Order: sequence, then structure tokens, then C-alpha cells
Amino acid sequence: MTLKYYTHGRRDQMKVALTFDDGPNPPRTDQVIEILDSRGARGTFFVLGKWVERWPQAAERIVKHGHVIGNHSHLHHIHVGDFDRAEAAIGNILGRPTQFLRAHYFNFFTCLYSPVAMSKDMKIVDADVNPADFAKTDPRAILEATLNDPSLAGGSIIDLHDSTESDDDALRLARPLPMIEALPAIIDGLQARGYQLVGLDEMELVDPIEWRQDERGKFGSPEVRDAIRKLGDARQ
Ligand SMILES: [Zn+2]
Repeated sequence: MTLKYYTHGRRDQMKVALTFDDGPNPPRTDQVIEILDSRGARGTFFVLGKWVERWPQAAERIVKHGHVIGNHSHLHHIHVGDFDRAEAAIGNILGRPTQFLRAHYFNFFTCLYSPVAMSKDMKIVDADVNPADFAKTDPRAILEATLNDPSLAGGSIIDLHDSTESDDDALRLARPLPMIEALPAIIDGLQARGYQLVGLDEMELVDPIEWRQDERGKFGSPEVRDAIRKLGDARQ
């Protein structure tokens, strides 16, 4: 079995993809959509099945405004690959399967147990620009972490958060606020550099990272060891 995931698109095109995880989260997701629309930008929203079930109309608004929806698991529980359950909720909104999936906590191992994640039509997507907006309260810090990231280039995929997996309503509404405050300047800064802000469905994803099983059924490549280390960091 081979697991394949993408961190970026073609480097020779001036396209960048903004991605937003853990929603939908009304009204924060709507605020993000409004900023995107006002600047002619498209975004990709990696949503949680449990929030789509709770706020189906918020998920519908993402689609109605021409943005992309991807699968980001159902409950966002570490080590649980419940992408199939999420897909049922999202499929009700989209009327077709999702094309893109991002493993929660970038825990790609969970994909191996999900027929939806491993289906040949699904693209598993990481990011090459990770400003860690969820851990920052100063909009300027989010802006700078994004625009000054050394990996930022044509084909970049930027990971932001319009929600959180937490069931704490106050936290879920408060946490995305610094990112939302920074977002207009992030988009303006990227567009000033000549980047077109596209949905993942407009970006040709290239150079996937591939995990292959060895003859003992183990995934032993350096990328896997790196992913295990990153996962350890995420749990702290
Ligand atoms: Zn997430």
C-alpha cells in the first residue's frame, strides 16, 4: 500500500491556495468568505463532519460562494480516521464526493484505515506554509508568519483556521478572530506580490510525498519518521 500526499502545487505558476481548517463555524466562516469574496480570492475549507451536521447551512454557504470544501475528519480525534463518517455528512451538502482531504493533526496514518481517504480520486493535502495562527493572538504575528515564511512561493498551500475542534462555543468563536483580522492584509500582501489566490481545484498538485510499505508491511522512510516526530509535537 502507498500513501501519497501533497504539500504544494506547481512552482512555475503564480498561484497560492489559502486553506481554512476545522469549520464550518458561523459566523466566523462567513466573515472569512466575505473577505475572500471582496478581494476576488477563492479558498478551500477543510471541514469537520460534526460541524457540518450541526451547521449544514454554513457549509452550504461555502459552496454557494464558489469556494472548495475538503474533508478533515468527523470528530478530529487523534489517531481516529473517521473520514468516511465525515464524508457522509459533507456529501449531503455537496451532492458528490469531496476531492480533497487533510488529515487532522497532519496524522496521515489515520488515512490508511479509511476507504474514502485511500480512494484513487481523493487527493490528500498537507501545506508548505504553516503560520500556526491557532496559537497566536496578535494579528500582526500571523501576517508576518505567513508573508515571511521562507517556503512561500508559487504553488504554496497556506494552512489557516476558521474554527477549532473544541466543543467550547466561546473558544471556537474567539480563537479565529486574530486570523480574521489579519486576513485582509495577508490577501493584499500576496496579491501585491502577483499571486492569484485559487481554490485547490485550480492548482495542479505536484511532487507528492509517498509512503511505501516495505516487505514487513512497515512504513520506514525518513518522511514517516519525520511525520511521527511532528505528531509528537502536535500532541503537546
Ligand atoms: Zn484541524
